Amino acid sequence: MMTLPRRTYFWIACRYEEKVTLQYESRSLPVHAARPLLEAYCAIPLAETSLRLLVVEDDPDLNRQLTTALTDAGYVVDRAFDGEEGHYLGDSEPYDAIVLDIGLPKMDGISVLEAWRRNGRVMPVLILTARDRWSDKVQGFDAGADDYVAKPFHLEEVLARIRALLRRSAGHAQSELTCGPVTLDTRTGRVSVSGNPIKMTSHEYRLLAYLMHHSGRVVSRTELVEHLYDQDFDRDSNTIEVFVGRIRKKLDVDIIQTVRGLGYLLTPPSPGT
Ligand code: CA
Repeated sequence: MMTLPRRTYFWIACRYEEKVTLQYESRSLPVHAARPLLEAYCAIPLAETSLRLLVVEDDPDLNRQLTTALTDAGYVVDRAFDGEEGHYLGDSEPYDAIVLDIGLPKMDGISVLEAWRRNGRVMPVLILTARDRWSDKVQGFDAGADDYVAKPFHLEEVLARIRALLRRSAGHAQSELTCGPVTLDTRTGRVSVSGNPIKMTSHEYRLLAYLMHHSGRVVSRTELVEHLYDQDFDRDSNTIEVFVGRIRKKLDVDIIQTVRGLGYLLTPPSPGT
């Protein structure tokens, strides 16, 4: 069990800023790496109710401005600075909407968007295009963009367009995953068992959501760590087991099986158990 100064995690829970660091086993961890540890060991629930957005923008200033504006507007915001990172996050996380720049290093925005759509990802995507590049807009819509904003833009316009996209997507798009009596709504981030809501921390939620997206096949611990946490995450830790234990306890139905030496398998409980 680790002990943290109360103020440290208070800051983290409230501010969510990457520049805040905390000492853990004499290492200084950035917040995004510390979050899973905090949640696993201190049971501090973070970001339970907000809508989750992703900002993919390689310009650091613009990325920060967007992230700050969206965070101030009450969203939980993840950020990526190149196409590969953005593609990976958008492919593995249940975002409610994504702001995607077109000109990105490593993988351009159009390719990122096409790859998401090919993979069945339906979240609304707002693309950021260069002012004079009408071809960006055409390509963007063809690739599956829901809306665009041309640079330079007013942050207010981005916020308004995001609100509109979220409103529209709230009306449709299949967002519920079920396994036996367990239901997980990827849009609202709510989990329930036989209709009764279950409170989860964001990391518990993400882990369960990942298992539910891949229900019926064995998911290894390595895969979970790779999909749910960033590079700074302590891969030797037994944090995944801690999370799974907590999720089992909260759900109180037997849907997560441990497959010895391989990982976890999500299956509906057999009748009579
Ligand atoms: Ca760019």
